[in-house]
Amino acid sequence: MLLLMIERDMPIDMVIFADTGMDFPEITEHIQKADAHLYRERGIHITTLKAAHSFEWYMFDNPLVKPSAIERRAEKGVPPYGNGWPGMRVRWCTGQLKTHLIRKEVNRLKAEKNAVHFIGIAADEAWRCKDERYPLVEWGITEADALQVCYDRGFDFGGVYRIYRRVSCWCCPFQRISELRALREHHPELWARLLDMDNRARAQFGPGPLGQFKKDWSVERLEERFAREESSA
Ligand code: SF4
Repeated sequence: MLLLMIERDMPIDMVIFADTGMDFPEITEHIQKADAHLYRERGIHITTLKAAHSFEWYMFDNPLVKPSAIERRAEKGVPPYGNGWPGMRVRWCTGQLKTHLIRKEVNRLKAEKNAVHFIGIAADEAWRCKDERYPLVEWGITEADALQVCYDRGFDFGGVYRIYRRVSCWCCPFQRISELRALREHHPELWARLLDMDNRARAQFGPGPLGQFKKDWSVERLEERFAREESSA
């Protein structure tokens, strides 16, 4: 969306990126490359928003405040800090590390400068649109088209979209098993970190949902499964 907005001479005053600290290194490099391009073309830099604490701090150290929640933890013998693994019902990470930050900044810009907010939702995910501007939807550009637009202009995201179907946090528990298998194969250093995080989560939160990476699967068990598959291949 940004590349096409630049090409189509659309006004751009600010480009916002929420950094969760858990992006693939290739994405971090891509952001730097996009930033250099934006600066060359429009003389502005990407504005990076970052939460006050890291993903791991919210996951393991964030102290609970609500007395009822602290009491519930005590009943289960779970310490009163840390949100644990995000789950379908408590997806704390998206809000804490991305949407709250962006919403706050956008609301400020709307109030102070009457800003218009453009979001890069593609035409084949238009059901996600709310009441902002969605140029890719307006232009009928799908996710696959948008990726091709990037490739055609020399932005290949370090090849990660050729390995993974979706690219977000490398530690995301909502990834498919096939993507986790690919993570172990293509990013072994991140897989090792994920294994550590999950071992720590299981030790801190026990077998309940907070300590559960995926339903029925700890990262350790996935490691055993993938290693087994590898040796029988
Ligand atoms: S990608 Fe997954 S882990 Fe990262 S913020 Fe979104 S839901 Fe949370």
